[in-house]
Amino acid sequence: MKIEAQFVASASNLVQCPPWDRIEVAIAGRSNVGKSSLINALTGVKGLARTSKTPGRTRALNFFTMGDELGLVDMPGYGYAKMSHEEAARLAPMMSDYLEQRSNLAAVLILIDARRGPEREESSLAGLARSRNLEVLVAATKSDKLKNSERAAAAKRFAALGVQPIWCSAFDGEGLDTLRRRLFRLARPAGDPRAA
Ligand code: GDP
Repeated sequence: MKIEAQFVASASNLVQCPPWDRIEVAIAGRSNVGKSSLINALTGVKGLARTSKTPGRTRALNFFTMGDELGLVDMPGYGYAKMSHEEAARLAPMMSDYLEQRSNLAAVLILIDARRGPEREESSLAGLARSRNLEVLVAATKSDKLKNSERAAAAKRFAALGVQPIWCSAFDGEGLDTLRRRLFRLARPAGDPRAA
């Protein structure tokens, strides 16, 4: 499946965020969780999220269109061992300003490695989102690496977040339809036939 999707802008603060009226979904996760691969797989646009990895953009908010109504916001990956304290100290307020104040933000999609489960960072992200009444979606990435017999135990690890994870794999395509539907539903009012 291919969806019209494009890189639009990078922003290092709220003022630089695009002044559009699209409903936005912020996508956050530990570095190496599979965020770029999932964004590419969701839209079917190869290399789309690679634009976020070009120098200067890995530490910014990267804005993409997805279809006519939705904006995806690729947030910097956190937990990167090589990141300096100064860099981390600069990123934290940029991310919290965006999450706390961006008016067209509707949901936060938290990506968590299916084998790892949520940790402190993901719980606090979910808490911050809920304190603003944002919808919290959780995608358990790289689900192809989990054997069927390991799913029940993995699901228990996710229970702490209070939301069912969508098992996703950019490699075999598991969960991508479900995740697309959940994202598009955010931008379409109930009753719109395309929200089904
Ligand atoms: P990012 O740093 O979060 O953007 O992660 P990337 O998308 O660059 O992926 C990090 C690593 O995980 C790469 O080696 C990918 O090939 C691998 N990866 C990404 N998605 C999947 C997946 O669905 N399944 C498996 N098995 N590996 C994946």
